[in-house]
Amino acid sequence: MKGPKVSKVTQPWMEQASCRGANPDTFYPVSEDLAGPALKICASCPVREACLEYAIVARETEGVWGGTTEKERRRIIRLRRKSA
Ligand code: SF4
Repeated sequence: MKGPKVSKVTQPWMEQASCRGANPDTFYPVSEDLAGPALKICASCPVREACLEYAIVARETEGVWGGTTEKERRRIIRLRRKSA
């Protein structure tokens, strides 16, 4: 389990996650407008890139991962498909 998140698989980088011990509600906001506090924590997280790649590959559709919201990850996936 990654910090407050319920991830499908435990990853080694999760040990260094800045969100460990954070309130799960922060990382699973009810709307994108309320994602600010989580995104602020992600901004200085040492494993942000690994977290984002994991979330994209694992299709984590809920919550803030790797400094992105659900909507932002969907956009990244769309752009990658176009450039593939
Ligand atoms: S980037 Fe954000 S969601 Fe991912 S491990 Fe770091 S703090 Fe947690």
